[in-house]
Amino acid sequence: MKIAIMGAMPEEIAPILKKLGNYTTTEYAKNKYYEASYKGVDLVIAYSKIGKVFSTLTATTMIEHFSATQLLFSGVAGAISPSLKVGDLIVATKLSQHDLDITAFGHPFGFVPEGAVFVEADKSMIELSKEVALDMGKIVQEGIIATGDQFVANEERKNWIGSTFGADALEMEGASVAVVCDALNVPFFILRAISDAADMDASFSFDAFLETSAVESAEFVMKMVDKILDKNAK
Ligand code: SAH
Repeated sequence: MKIAIMGAMPEEIAPILKKLGNYTTTEYAKNKYYEASYKGVDLVIAYSKIGKVFSTLTATTMIEHFSATQLLFSGVAGAISPSLKVGDLIVATKLSQHDLDITAFGHPFGFVPEGAVFVEADKSMIELSKEVALDMGKIVQEGIIATGDQFVANEERKNWIGSTFGADALEMEGASVAVVCDALNVPFFILRAISDAADMDASFSFDAFLETSAVESAEFVMKMVDKILDKNAK
C-alpha cells in the first residue's frame, strides 16, 4: 500500500508536510514529489499546479511512477450550494468537467464519446469519511463537484454549473484526477474546504481564506489516512 496525497497549490499540501516533518524530495516531470513513511505506511505527496492538465499529470505520475495504490486529494473550492459556507468541508460523490463542451454534436455538457459525464468516487472511502467526521465532531457534506479550467467568480456561470451538473461546489482539478484514478483502477477520495462562493467577491474571499480552509481540508485528510491504516490493521 502506498497512499498519494495531492493538492493543486503549495498552501494545500504545506500543512501535511509540516505534520510529517521528515520527508525526501524527488524532482520528476518538472514537479516535486515528497515521500515519507507515516505510521509504517509509505506516502507520496505533491501539489500539481492549478488546472486539469497539471493535475492529470501529477495524478498519473503518482500512480504510474511512484506506485500509489490510493489517492486522496485535499484542497479548497468555490461553493455553489447555499448550505456550504467558507471553511465547510465537502466530499465528492462524483465529479464532472463543466467546461467540456461538444454539445454542437448533440452530446450533453461534460461528455465525450467513450467517456462519461460523471466519474464516481470510491464508496468505501466516502463511508470512512463519515466515521472520520463523527470522530472529529465535524459536519461534512457529500455532493457533486464540477471541475473546469476557470476560476469562477460569476453568479451566472456558477448557477449554470449548479443547474447543469447538479453540482454543489466547483474547482479546477477534481474531475481530471477522478478520470485518471478511474482509468487506472486506483480508489480515490476528493475533499475540499470552501474558500469562496464563486461569486463577484470570490477572488477576495479566496485570498482571505485559502490558508485556513486548506488547513481544515488537510487535517481531515490526515485523519482519513489514520482511519485507512486503522481499518487495514484490523
Ligand atoms: N490565487 C491563485 C489562483 C487560484 S485559482 C494565484 O493567483 O495564483 C483557484 C484554485 O482554488 C484552484 O486550484 C481551484 O481548484 C480552487 N478554487 C477555489 N475557488 C474556486 C473558484 N471559485 N473557481 C474555481 N476554482 C476554485
